[in-house]
Amino acid sequence: MNNNSDNSELIKCDVCLKEVPISGAKSVETSDYVAHFCGLDCYDKWLKKTDEEKQSIGEKKQ
Ligand SMILES: [Zn+2]
Repeated sequence: MNNNSDNSELIKCDVCLKEVPISGAKSVETSDYVAHFCGLDCYDKWLKKTDEEKQSIGEKKQ
């Protein structure tokens, strides 16, 4: 029996935009929003991306 009820809500992965059940997703609360990931791979990519963005902001010379 495959009884999909409303506790299998889908969220979109912040990195690859794949829809995954919220119960199996990894989520991280930032100061602005909650980011969701389909797995640790995407979480890792997001971490690196966020890190690079922070660094490029620090290196801005304008
Ligand atoms: Zn993903």
